[in-house]
Amino acid sequence: MAKFMVKIQDETCKGCGVCVSVCPKKIIGMRKQVNQKGYSPASVTDESACIGCASCAMMCPDGAIEIYQVD
Ligand code: SF4
Ligand code: SF4
Repeated sequence: MAKFMVKIQDETCKGCGVCVSVCPKKIIGMRKQVNQKGYSPASVTDESACIGCASCAMMCPDGAIEIYQVD
């Protein structure tokens, strides 16, 4: 089964939470720490459960998420 890597750019994320709400596997949450702009960035809580649907990447208004397939 394909595995995926979810890369979220901490410093680009504005902490809007859209990716958290669209992920069908509910594996994105918000960090407690803030980035340099003062936003709490999103982070993946269980990358091994990612199905690579890319909904998070498509919906992110700031293009802060990239999905890679890893074999
Ligand atoms: S690619 Fe899909 S399953 Fe993976 S983190 Fe993004 S929304 Fe969730
Ligand atoms: S949708 Fe983009 S900007 Fe919004 S919390 Fe997720 S990664 Fe950050």
